[in-house]
Amino acid sequence: MKLNNIIILGAGIAGTGLSFNLKRLGYTGKITLLDSNEIAANKAHSTKTILKKIKEEYSIPYYHKYDKIAFCNYDNPFFLDIDAYSVKYEDMCNYFFENSNAEFKKEKGMDIVNNTLITNKSKHKFDLLIDCTGRSFFVRKKFKLPMSERFWIAKLKILKNNQNIKTNHMYWFTDEKGYFEEFCPYEDHIAVGDYLYSDKIDFSRIKLPEKLYRNKALNNIEIIKEFRAVIPSSPRFPLYYKKKIAFLGDSFGNAPTSSAYGSEAILETSKILSCCIINNNMHMYEKMWKKKYLDSYIKYLIVKYDMFTNSKFIKKIKNYPDNYSFFNIFKKYPEQVIKYLEDPNYVFECLNELSSENKFPKIQKLFRAYYYLFLHTRTYFESLRKF
Ligand SMILES: Cc1cc2nc3c(=O)[nH]c(=O)nc-3n(C[C@H](O)[C@H](O)[C@H](O)COP(=O)(O)OP(=O)(O)OC[C@H]3O[C@@H](n4cnc5c(N)ncnc54)[C@H](O)[C@@H]3O)c2cc1C
Repeated sequence: MKLNNIIILGAGIAGTGLSFNLKRLGYTGKITLLDSNEIAANKAHSTKTILKKIKEEYSIPYYHKYDKIAFCNYDNPFFLDIDAYSVKYEDMCNYFFENSNAEFKKEKGMDIVNNTLITNKSKHKFDLLIDCTGRSFFVRKKFKLPMSERFWIAKLKILKNNQNIKTNHMYWFTDEKGYFEEFCPYEDHIAVGDYLYSDKIDFSRIKLPEKLYRNKALNNIEIIKEFRAVIPSSPRFPLYYKKKIAFLGDSFGNAPTSSAYGSEAILETSKILSCCIINNNMHMYEKMWKKKYLDSYIKYLIVKYDMFTNSKFIKKIKNYPDNYSFFNIFKKYPEQVIKYLEDPNYVFECLNELSSENKFPKIQKLFRAYYYLFLHTRTYFESLRKF
């Protein structure tokens, strides 16, 4: 049966980007895009950083450009020469929607019975439903499927730029306890974020360090808005469920754990999904995704686990390198860090080279190997389960 009637539930970057890619790749069936709110409703995503490759491939409209990113620890930053672009989430999603063939309806998904989505206003029969409901996990919750198990949790603030801070640099700082500070200055405001990579959505875990870049850079902090945000960052399978439902975006958990790479990973995955829909071969979706991304994604998660979790196990290991040691080593290899930011598949080449110089203790390699095998094994068994 051809997939002529598609429902996309959720109109963030996953839903709108998929609508766009479907048109771009030649899908001619009907696409209904539903969201309980407006397009790009997730207010925690007001601005996004994207890198050059994806900006150029999709001609995404941006409103601000940085030519350097300050990276590393607060006392000892180093600057990477890398172009980063700020986009307004709303503009990016609307751009994708307007250049698609999807019809948008403001309706909230309430239930799924057989091949019908029941919303607060209507019933929609579908050949295929794509769950793009982000961290609401609409389908996962309904069918009690495995949920993401790691998240970036963030407290975000919009501050007034009342001191004319230079706007061509953005800043990422970290401390040895896994806390991460983002500082993005614009003409009239500054977006700051306090992040933690965590296995629980518990914002009280975000403990602000004594030294904050914003306190150094600003004499007078005026808060305009505050948000809390969550980025699920561990893919959970299946990707294609009961032969009628697929997952994309945060609902799948495939925003990698890197600033500036979330939208890109989702758009790249939506290309795979679009090809499977057009070729009416949905069974290939999970296979193709795994072939292209699973291994590098797992390696990526391991590095983040290493660098950012405050794991009790890791803390017991004597001389285990903390964030500072990582960043100080990264400092010597700026071109590798840039490649790592632009393409997370690159990360392990970079770290392998570093570890081959015996910078890291053996126990770290062992820990990584254990975690790598654990995630692969879990993924394998998840795929065998009959949902
Ligand atoms: C603080 C933060 C900073 C980030 N920084 C970056 C960055 O700099 N660069 C980058 O590329 N990525 C970044 N990311 C990651 C990226 O923004 C997200 O991964 C991405 O926006 C998720 O898109 P999505 O479409 O899956 O989900 P969302 O944008 O959350 O969309 C989900 C949609 O589903 C709708 N919905 C939910 N339930 C229902 C229902 N039952 N019925 C109908 N509609 C429903 C919601 O209203 C919402 O509009 C960041 C994320 C966060 C939280």
